Amino acid sequence: MMTTTKGKKMFIGGKWIEKERTTNVYDPQDNSIITTVPKASRDDMIATIELAEEGARIAAKMPVHERITVLNKAADYVEKYDELYASTIASEGSKTITEARGEVTRCIETLRLSAEEARRINGETISFDQMPGSENRIGYFYQFPIGIVAAITPFNDPLNLVAHKIGPAIASGNAIIVKPATMTPLSALLLAEAFDYAGLPKKVLSVITGSGDEIGDTLVTHPSVRMVSFTGGLETGEAIAKKAGLKKISMELGSNSPVIVLQDADIYDAVQSTVSGAFGAVGQNCLGVQRIFIHDDVYDVFTTQFIQKTNRYKVGNKKDEQTDMGPLISEQEAIRVEKWVDEAVQHGAKVLTGGYRDGAFYAPTVLTNVSPTDKIAKEEIFGPVVILFRINTLDEAIIQANNVNYGLQAGIFTNNIHQAFDAIGKLEVGGLLINDSSDYRIDGMPFGGVKGSGIGREGIKFSIQEMVEPKVVQFKL
Ligand code: NAP
Repeated sequence: MMTTTKGKKMFIGGKWIEKERTTNVYDPQDNSIITTVPKASRDDMIATIELAEEGARIAAKMPVHERITVLNKAADYVEKYDELYASTIASEGSKTITEARGEVTRCIETLRLSAEEARRINGETISFDQMPGSENRIGYFYQFPIGIVAAITPFNDPLNLVAHKIGPAIASGNAIIVKPATMTPLSALLLAEAFDYAGLPKKVLSVITGSGDEIGDTLVTHPSVRMVSFTGGLETGEAIAKKAGLKKISMELGSNSPVIVLQDADIYDAVQSTVSGAFGAVGQNCLGVQRIFIHDDVYDVFTTQFIQKTNRYKVGNKKDEQTDMGPLISEQEAIRVEKWVDEAVQHGAKVLTGGYRDGAFYAPTVLTNVSPTDKIAKEEIFGPVVILFRINTLDEAIIQANNVNYGLQAGIFTNNIHQAFDAIGKLEVGGLLINDSSDYRIDGMPFGGVKGSGIGREGIKFSIQEMVEPKVVQFKL
């Protein structure tokens, strides 16, 4: 039984492959090299797609009970070696060991949910006789796998976001090629190990490591690839959508999520949820809290408590269980965040706490006096920075919350049901959390955004809907 990280090999069509060209995988905390992974070429990508063509035929023929068995066995494997999975996430990524353990628990849930949903991919009978002249016809539709799914994943949830693509693809009888983020390929390779152990037929799954710039185009433009399931930044997603051509596209992109705190809110609760929502995973979280709109009546008390809690945040060694927040994914990213904050300050922003950097670490930072038109309020900061805005009415908050090109999730704290329903109707988002921050998700709910936050929904049942195509069968009597 294999229990070590196969970081040096990639998983192509069921075989562990080495390459002469390699890429270093770093621990962002001290920039030490953890290991290397193969740097695949365009030819490697073409060969992988050719194997997946055969894999798609094999996957489509897999009986549902076998898909269920494989998915559950893979989940068992992750559960058995959960600490290895958690330490891999915490080494190659930014998450603390505590956050990494949470991601492993969710990955197991994602795989088990995929096994459950595999048995519910149903069709419907069609009443052909609704059309005059069709009285002598009966029939139905049922769901067929789409073929090959290309899964492109980001660095910030390197295990569970990969499981969110592999699980539904296998449940629905597809072959899948995963291209994980170059900075965090090890968790995805370790997940491939779970499927290798579980007896997934060879060629159904590949995890290919390499640079998106070099091998990405070959993957997304290849005619045999029938769906591109992408999770990552808006710019990359838009470029891929333009190139992909006639195939299904699912885009899980970024955001700068708003939370509204009204005058009747439970302030203690609002502070607890929004601080962890802003600084969890070092703010590198697609549904992390970036903009908080606080009613004038409670602005001062909320702000005081928010700063107190932020100042108690322990930044440091990711592997220490007492640590609340680790480093960003790279020093380069920390420098970018620092630049955005400095630029906002030059435009008049006030730093209430934080605002400094040490290597890849950036302090949890709270800004106020930011113009709603400033870059830091309009774009996705993807770092531990949150902006507080004073508002006088719910409508004012909603207008500002909507005045960006994103719309993934939002939160509102209020005990007034009318205000809550007003927000439900007017906020342009894929999910609204009442009395919680935007940073909440379970793996079985429809998850995705509107506007620049994406196209389509993930959440196993919903991902499966994207990965199948109905076929109509009609009998003329
Ligand atoms: P990214 O830079 O957009 O990269 C995402 C993936 O795209 C990586 O695997 C990357 O490969 C690949 N890629 C880059 N160029 C490509 C190309 N030309 N063709 C094909 N693939 C290409 O995003 P990131 O920095 O890793 O992740 C952060 C972003 O993801 C944030 O915007 C965050 O909000 C978003 N996100 C969204 C969700 C959601 O569910 N909505 C969840 C998590 C994260 P390389 O690493 O090799 O460049």
